[in-house]
Amino acid sequence: MVKVERSFPAPASLAEEAKKVNGKYDRQDVIERLRQDFHNKCYICEMKGLQDPNVEHLLPHKSGKYQDRKYDWENLFWSCGHCNGIKNSSKYDEGIIDCCNTDPERYLHFRMEGSNVAISVSDPKDEILKRTAQLVVETFSMKNTGMRTYTSDIRWKLLQKEMNLLYRQLERVHNGSGSKTAVRTLRSLLRRESAFAAFKRSYVRDHAAEYPELQQYVALEDQ
Ligand SMILES: [Zn+2]
Repeated sequence: MVKVERSFPAPASLAEEAKKVNGKYDRQDVIERLRQDFHNKCYICEMKGLQDPNVEHLLPHKSGKYQDRKYDWENLFWSCGHCNGIKNSSKYDEGIIDCCNTDPERYLHFRMEGSNVAISVSDPKDEILKRTAQLVVETFSMKNTGMRTYTSDIRWKLLQKEMNLLYRQLERVHNGSGSKTAVRTLRSLLRRESAFAAFKRSYVRDHAAEYPELQQYVALEDQ
């Protein structure tokens, strides 16, 4: 999970739909704007190029029970169906980090460990941070149904592939072979818009002594 810049003002259809009894929060202007603002990347698992995007409510509207949440532009997020489904559990009802207002990288550390992801939090007493970390871990490892076993595994394999791309380019920089093009490639691999950016950026920050020249590309947002 990385910081996302949400654009304003809110898509016009939201105010119109909010006046209706059974309004929609997913009209074309909302979809198009979310897709662009989130770079067609799931804000939870960070998989890119979604085939099954969902409009996700950060705080649930509970089938319209919370009307204000249902049409609130700042409560709408772009996620994949897999993550939306996992987050649709009462344990996440009280919310996770709002990555449009807070830089998640300031509070969460992302890494691969054994055959799973491991997310550590800066303050173990902070419930929002703990829930966010738990959710991200689940999206890579939840196997409570046959389909989830499959879709979690897809994300885990894509993450591994992306990390291997990163390691390969880092090695080129380390060896000094083709380092100029390697740095250019790394710069794009480390952009927040890229797939699984939080994991790649955490890794480069962890290896700051080896890659001082790359730290400028993994800087945190100003608070
Ligand atoms: Zn996802």
